[in-house]
Amino acid sequence: LKENNARMMWHPMTSPQDSIDNPPKIITGSSGVRVTDIDGHTVVDAVGGLWNVNLGYSCQPVKDAIADQLARLPYYSTFRGTSNDAAIELSYELNDFFAPDGMQRAFFTSGGSDSVESALRLARQYHKLRGEAGRTKFLSLKKGYHGTHIGAASVNGNANFRNAYEPLLSGCFHIPAPYTYRNPFNETDPEKLAHLCAAALEDEIAFQGANTIAAMIMEPILGAGGVIPPHKSFAPMVQEICNRNGILLITDEVITAYGRTGAWSGARLWGIQPDMMCTAKAITNGFFPFGAVMIGERLVDVFEGNSEAKIAHGYTYSGHPVGAAAALACLAETKRLNVVDNAAARGTQLFEGCTALQEKFDIIGDVRGGHGLMTAIEMVSDRATKKPIDGASAATVQEVAYQSGAMIRVSGPNIILSPSLVLTEQDAAAILSALDAGFAAL
Ligand code: PMP
Repeated sequence: LKENNARMMWHPMTSPQDSIDNPPKIITGSSGVRVTDIDGHTVVDAVGGLWNVNLGYSCQPVKDAIADQLARLPYYSTFRGTSNDAAIELSYELNDFFAPDGMQRAFFTSGGSDSVESALRLARQYHKLRGEAGRTKFLSLKKGYHGTHIGAASVNGNANFRNAYEPLLSGCFHIPAPYTYRNPFNETDPEKLAHLCAAALEDEIAFQGANTIAAMIMEPILGAGGVIPPHKSFAPMVQEICNRNGILLITDEVITAYGRTGAWSGARLWGIQPDMMCTAKAITNGFFPFGAVMIGERLVDVFEGNSEAKIAHGYTYSGHPVGAAAALACLAETKRLNVVDNAAARGTQLFEGCTALQEKFDIIGDVRGGHGLMTAIEMVSDRATKKPIDGASAATVQEVAYQSGAMIRVSGPNIILSPSLVLTEQDAAAILSALDAGFAAL
């Protein structure tokens, strides 16, 4: 396994040569919020799988639901002409769960990138059906991450995820993100920065022409870009600007839905009602590839009652009965355990713990979080100039933290912490102590 790990397998988001020189860790077991590697070393998983194992690895009701569904009906499609009971039941439960966000229907996908792709397609189709075929462009935030398909990649705000694959979809424009630590306005006040970014959005819309823009897609809290929570005024301003200009608002809630932020959805965290919400990841606790685009009233009004309004795309695994059964069990457990409260409490503990580490270690330039279990530490080699840390030092922090008991994720200069929402106080303390050891090693 160790030999073939790098030689036979190309790993996502890495350089194949780096993987050969520095093989990825092989994870072979799990329990609760911990994972164990091939050498028998067990750590707290501060990554929570990949922001998705919200209920931990042992969540038996989800495993049972998967096993039961596999025994009963392991697969059937939901393409025109057929459906399945698990998917129908799930659509009912999801519409109920997301009703406060204004959602009324569910369109099933196989994961996050698929959900984004579907939302972008549905946005263009919505405008075509309304006789506004010229509305084809998309707006998104710099540093936003929306996935890997050509459409999703086109709206990604980080050029590193786009450059190798250009030309991508034309007509995608990226607005400055409300990233207080670094921004083109040199604005350090979060509220003022939110207004500047909203003004930049207005300017871009005026420049492009509102009637050329289909949708704005945005993560309620930017995740993979380094956990960037905007000031609370930002999302409502974006919603108002979009509404006023006839632009659909899509929230990419692949990370933020189902409780991670300490609210049930990112939309609810900021008090907005988007036109579509992209979800995936925690929808099945990571146990089955699955996703759902939640659909709001504007789209329902245009697509229903019009036999010309055919949805001309879908995935073989849309509404997969095993994924749907897993999602139903997840939703039930998520509600039963009321994970939002624990996410908020443990999130505060981690955020405050990281802020305390910042007092101790100069290498920590910025700590971001404060909304549930989404926390980031941005590492710098010089606090005054904010020069990002070098890759070798970041790798040392990661490895020493791992040897000291926590799997952390380093992405560029950022350490991203996104553990399971069932984390205990002791687990969170273990993550902080492993981080302390990692920084001390430098
Ligand atoms: N949107 C967001 C906000 C994400 O964080 C991700 C994955 N990290 C995606 C979309 C893509 O999801 P997937 O990897 O399941 O395709």
